Amino acid sequence: MVILNVERKKEKGKEGHLGKYEFGETIGEGNFGKVKLAKDIHTGKLFAVKILDKNKPIHLNNTDRIKREITTMKVLKHPNVVRLYEVLASKTKIYMVLEYVTGGELFEKIRSKGKLTEGSGRKIFQQLIDGVSYCHNKGVFHRDLKLENVLVDAKGNIKITDFNLSALPQNFREDGLLHTTCGSPNYVAPEIIANRGYDGATSDTWSCGVILYVILIGYLPFDDRNLAVLYHKIFKGEVHIPKWLSPGAQNMIKRILDPNPRTRLTMAMIKEDEWFKEGYIQSNPEDGEEDIHSDDEVLPIKAVQHEAIKGSPRSSTLINAFQLIGMSSSLDLSGFFEKEDASERKIRFTSNHSSKDLIERFEGIVIEMGFRVQKKNGMLKVTQENKTQNSNQPLSGSRGI
Ligand code: ADP
Ligand code: MG
Repeated sequence: MVILNVERKKEKGKEGHLGKYEFGETIGEGNFGKVKLAKDIHTGKLFAVKILDKNKPIHLNNTDRIKREITTMKVLKHPNVVRLYEVLASKTKIYMVLEYVTGGELFEKIRSKGKLTEGSGRKIFQQLIDGVSYCHNKGVFHRDLKLENVLVDAKGNIKITDFNLSALPQNFREDGLLHTTCGSPNYVAPEIIANRGYDGATSDTWSCGVILYVILIGYLPFDDRNLAVLYHKIFKGEVHIPKWLSPGAQNMIKRILDPNPRTRLTMAMIKEDEWFKEGYIQSNPEDGEEDIHSDDEVLPIKAVQHEAIKGSPRSSTLINAFQLIGMSSSLDLSGFFEKEDASERKIRFTSNHSSKDLIERFEGIVIEMGFRVQKKNGMLKVTQENKTQNSNQPLSGSRGI
């Protein structure tokens, strides 16, 4: 692993350059910061560089953890997993140089074109299982598998992204606010909701089952505009599988979306399944391109487990909110949750500050950024004056506030 400290001077002197990389357009914006296209000036090869802001994590601990998690990602070399080539660091930022994947997110593909045929859905699923089980064999669990984290390359093959980084965004926020990405709670396994300690592999398998459901059927297996009801459905494993699906596909979905992790299909069992095996060509791990740094040391393969997985002893008498929601069939908590479209990505957070303080703070920040603020019924609407047209552009939407 090469973690280079890039001189500040260099950064200032050459705008849009970082070492041998020349930055191009911004190709994505996530919870961490920007993803930019970058070109290796010597070879002309394109990369996607994910830029993480180091200013925000206050403790050195965080930086160490980022390095550790990045280190884990670096050992993953599989045609269906986005390759992390190298990591560069300046005083304020961490740059992750990633394989550039040109076809966008699988999420967008399904959203715009609808469900896939069983044949092409199975091909995607085979690649997904190949990539995820490869990572499991290396001791790496994803914990945030969803359509948005599956990218598609120019040939229509998939590349799984965001490995092991799912726990990071909360470290990148200031003010002691605890941030959790809740863009897709629909993919979470019931044992995670129950918070009784879980096995990274079986929970990832559940999420693969949700992905399979969406790509073959065209909508989410567990969905409700009310988050409490959604968790209740997942907890119960209440899933409707349409009869028009082939029996093999129906069986596969049903046996992966088994709320009991002990009887749920394992990766090995999925690979043995007749429906799965049809037309299956196993991808060759370690296939593909060479490291861009021949002097890279080989890293020991190490499981990186999130604290939450290790903790949560069974003997605990405490129950969390998710368990409470899961257990209560009559408790109507709808008032606590606003209407939410599952196809939108949002950031939910908790804070010790009062909502009044928070709203005032948001207001101050967005006004400073040149937006106009309207307050109505406890909602804050932020709009930007469009100089060329007379309409206002709302800032909401998939990547807005
Ligand atoms: P987050 O961690 O917030 O989920 P992502 O890593 O998903 O952020 O990056 C945000 C967006 O940037 C993605 O949705 C995708 O469109 C784009 N992106 C990320 N990595 C790559 C990549 N390797 N190749 C091409 N586009 C990428
Ligand atoms: Mg992502």
